[in-house]
Amino acid sequence: MDILVVLEDKNGNIHRMSQEAITGAQQIGSEFNLSVGILAMGSNAAALSEQAAQYDVEEVLTLENEHLNHYTADGYGAAVAQVVTNENPKYVFFGYTYQVRDYVPRVSAKLKRPFLNDAVSYSTEGGNPVFSKQVLNAKLVTALQPNDGGPILISFQSAAFSSENIQSGSANVRTISVDIDAAVIKTVTEDPFQEEAGGVDLSSAELIVSIGRGIGKEENIPLAQELAKVIGAELASSRPVVDSGWLAPHHQIGSSGQTVAPKLYLALGISGAIQHVVGMKGSKNIVVVNKDPDAPLFELADYGVVGDVLEIIPKLTEALK
Ligand SMILES: Cc1cc2nc3c(=O)[nH]c(=O)nc-3n(C[C@H](O)[C@H](O)[C@H](O)COP(=O)(O)OP(=O)(O)OC[C@H]3O[C@@H](n4cnc5c(N)ncnc54)[C@H](O)[C@@H]3O)c2cc1C
Repeated sequence: MDILVVLEDKNGNIHRMSQEAITGAQQIGSEFNLSVGILAMGSNAAALSEQAAQYDVEEVLTLENEHLNHYTADGYGAAVAQVVTNENPKYVFFGYTYQVRDYVPRVSAKLKRPFLNDAVSYSTEGGNPVFSKQVLNAKLVTALQPNDGGPILISFQSAAFSSENIQSGSANVRTISVDIDAAVIKTVTEDPFQEEAGGVDLSSAELIVSIGRGIGKEENIPLAQELAKVIGAELASSRPVVDSGWLAPHHQIGSSGQTVAPKLYLALGISGAIQHVVGMKGSKNIVVVNKDPDAPLFELADYGVVGDVLEIIPKLTEALK
């Protein structure tokens, strides 16, 4: 295969960021005539392979190994490095996740191959793909063209591709194995990190209620929390809300926070500074409430309401109840 997509397990299902990477592989594969394969590993490898085999790719590789039952950067790094060596793809694609940031640099170091992290898009030059990534707080975009035959490791930013465009099909499933020496596993991993007990991390949330400085004061935060609860959304914010200590830092969206791509991003009292916009512009539907009709975020809005969030949030919550 030419492109290998490495899946991440999200409680027995394919992580949405991996689905985005598969979508990217399908699009790049069909544009540059490259075949696509998918690697499923870990304790849920069989279930993930079954799901992956329903996509339009050439084949799915299933990898089970006692040292991969619990995630460790050592084990996953060793396994992916061996699979890449054996299969020799041109490109290895990953979704944009904490786990990928943790272990893929090890794969890169083991293989002495480059890791192009957080690509946001691709273009074509000389019949080959060129990958773009944002640098210097998203002020500049740099274009990177691999100049040898690969393998090149590439992770894609959230929303670089939409998982809704994933193509269905049917793929062959092949079982593979790797040798992992128990001595290489030097770390002990705790249960997966959750942003909030029982919650989901923002990068894979489908509905987000996000508040900005327009919420006024800490005492008003429960208004937004209730609205989020009523529609089953996650709560997020702009940076001033975090800087004021009204919400914990992991709620922050933007260039120094998280990047999200929900189906609905409800922006309440957020002006639309570029540092915020880069973190949420991939959202499918953006609803903006702001008392200033000239707030820049209205330019991105699918729906906009000019009004006071302190009046609108309670009424919206009541109506949605
Ligand atoms: C290096 C760097 C990194 C940064 N990283 C981030 C980042 O990751 N994320 C981020 O968000 N910012 C980031 N910032 C800050 C960013 O530049 C903006 O200052 C910030 O996004 C503004 O947040 P805001 O829209 O909530 O506040 P403001 O810009 O103050 O906007 C508040 C908005 O609320 C509206 N409003 C006020 N009261 C009401 C009301 N009662 N009802 C309705 N609307 C109301 C106002 O009209 C205004 O549009 C960064 C800045 C720098 C320099």
